[in-house]
Amino acid sequence: MPQFPRIVVLATGGTIAGGSANPASSARYQAATVPVATLLAAVPALQSVARIEAEQVAQVDSKDMVFAFWSALAARVRHWSGEPDVAGIVVTHGTDTLEETAMFLHLTQACPVPVVLTAAMRPSTSLSADGPLNLLDAVRVAAHPDARGKGVLVVLNQQVHAARDVTKAHTSAVDAFVSPSCGPLGFVQDDLVRIPRVPVRADNAALPAPQQWPEVEIIASYAQPGRVAVDAMVAAGVRGLVVAAAGNGSVHETLVAALKDAAATGVAVVRSSRTGAGHVAIPPVADPVAGVFVSAADLNPYKARVLLLLALAQEPGLAAEPDRLQALFASV
Ligand code: ASP
Repeated sequence: MPQFPRIVVLATGGTIAGGSANPASSARYQAATVPVATLLAAVPALQSVARIEAEQVAQVDSKDMVFAFWSALAARVRHWSGEPDVAGIVVTHGTDTLEETAMFLHLTQACPVPVVLTAAMRPSTSLSADGPLNLLDAVRVAAHPDARGKGVLVVLNQQVHAARDVTKAHTSAVDAFVSPSCGPLGFVQDDLVRIPRVPVRADNAALPAPQQWPEVEIIASYAQPGRVAVDAMVAAGVRGLVVAAAGNGSVHETLVAALKDAAATGVAVVRSSRTGAGHVAIPPVADPVAGVFVSAADLNPYKARVLLLLALAQEPGLAAEPDRLQALFASV
C-alpha cells in the first residue's frame, strides 16, 4: 500500500464552489455555496494521489475580497506549512481576485512546501465543470517534487503559473488565466507534472502580513481625465496611488499635475500599465517624472497595489522615498 503525500486543501469559496439549479447554465449561479467536503467527494481520483485534509477557511465570492481574509488565509498557510509531514497546500479560490491573493501570498509566505491556488470558471454543478480537474491537478502539483522551491503557484486549465505573473484575462473562457510577460512555468496532464521553468522571483521579499493596512487606491489615465478623484483621495488621506497608465506608462498631463501635487504631500505614486502586458521602464530613462513616480515594471496595477500596500504597511515613511520604493519594485 503506497504512502501518499499529505496535502492540505484550504477552501475559500468562488465559482469552483458555486452551484446552480440549472446545469446547462455556466453564467447564472451562486458562487461560494458548496462545502469543501462535497468538492472533494466529486473527485474520487484524489484518493490515489494524496492523503487529503481539508479546511473551510472562508466561503466568499472573491469579488468581495477583504484584507481580513488575506490575513486569515496567510495564518492558515503558515500553520499548515509548519506541520510535520505536510507535503503541500492547495487553496481553492474565486477567479475574480485570485491574482491579488496569489500576489499577497507570494510576497508574504516563505513557502517551505508548495502553495498552489486553483479555481474554476464554471460552477461545480454545470455541464463540463472545470473545477474537478483543476482541483485534482492542483493537488498533483502540490504533491510533486518539481513544485518545491518555486514559490506560490497557480494551476488552472492544465497549466502551472507563477503567482507573481498570472492574471485573469477573459471573462468566461476556461483558459482565462495567462502569464503575459513570461508564459506558464509548466503543465499537468494526468499523472505527468512538468515544471521545467523557474519563476522570475521565487525568493520573494518575505514582507510581513500587515496588522494595519494603509489606504492605497488605483486610478486610470484615459482621454481627458479629471483630477477630482486624485484630489479627493489625497484629501481623504490616501497613502499610495497606483496609476493604470496608458501604453508604456504614459499619464495624461492633467493627471501628472494632480499626481505631482499628491507626491509633494508624501503620497506614493506608482505607474503601471493598463495594457495588460509589458514593462513600464524603470529609471534611468528620459522621463520628466522619473524620481517622483515609481515604476511598477511588469506588475499590473492590481499586483502593484498589493506590493505597495505591503511596503507602506511595513514602513509608512517609504511613501516619501521614491528611490527606495523603486528599488523594492525592481527587486520583487
Ligand atoms: N465571482 C467569482 C469569484 O471570484 C468568479 C469565479 O470564481 O470565477 O469568486
